[in-house]
Amino acid sequence: MGSEKVLSKSQNHELLHFLGVRTGSTTSHNNAYFFPTPDTMVFVDMSLLNIPKAKTLLKGRKDKINRVILYLTHLHADHASGVVPLAIYIKNLFKNKILLEVISSPEVARAASIALTLEGGKMTFDSETKKMDEVLRFYSITDKGAFCYFEGVDVEAESLRFKYPWFHGEIIPTRHDARLTGACGFRFDFWKTTVFYSGDTNTLEPFSPRIQEYCDTAMNKEVWFYVETRVNDSKRHLQWEKIRLELSLLHQFIGKRFHVVLMHYNQPGIIIPDLLELNKDGHWIELAESEVIST
Ligand SMILES: [Zn+2]
Ligand SMILES: [Zn+2]
Repeated sequence: MGSEKVLSKSQNHELLHFLGVRTGSTTSHNNAYFFPTPDTMVFVDMSLLNIPKAKTLLKGRKDKINRVILYLTHLHADHASGVVPLAIYIKNLFKNKILLEVISSPEVARAASIALTLEGGKMTFDSETKKMDEVLRFYSITDKGAFCYFEGVDVEAESLRFKYPWFHGEIIPTRHDARLTGACGFRFDFWKTTVFYSGDTNTLEPFSPRIQEYCDTAMNKEVWFYVETRVNDSKRHLQWEKIRLELSLLHQFIGKRFHVVLMHYNQPGIIIPDLLELNKDGHWIELAESEVIST
């Protein structure tokens, strides 16, 4: 097996695409996207750096899309600095017909809703109909239900639509940077594939048991774990040396239908030989790759 196989994206249309795949100190910020239905565009995180690519994607599907959703893992710049430019672009491209719905943990959704409210944006809220006219709408999901944050006030989102066939409302809280609370991952369900997405994290603790439990109940699904890693040791991130054994054990435990995509990585040259070794009895782990999108 050549190194091309390690780097190549697996053939499955239900997998995520990437605008960028590397760390925040590079020019390839780790943001993903997918189309759960032909009329819906979903982004996972949005850096300012990736706005040109996002614009190309949105413009190319302008006549097909009627919903844009952004799942936000946390508020570091390589994940969240593009939220407002994205909202402004959507507002102009679709002439106010569709909003940007942002879904995250309560801490992130609330902080972002207060910090990113658009100056001069049309902001109205009808308490009878719960109809909102702002450009950006922030949802968070907790054990107690879903909430929509509007001008700093929590509005119960029970009557608002926040669940989709590909997202049943599972936010996966995790630990990343102690100075910035609310980091989270997500689970997305497609027809034949379920995706767990870690976001930036310094622990596998919230993910491994969930993945095992899910695999026990959904026997017919392929399960893909998109997880961040880096070569050097870090308090805020997962060190490759420390997680490769745990990922291998998960793979042994679950079997062939478990796949791993490493993202937000540095020094791929050091990781690739390990991937060749891990894949020698069958391909199951690979590096995320950026899509080529002309801007
Ligand atoms: Zn990051
Ligand atoms: Zn981060």
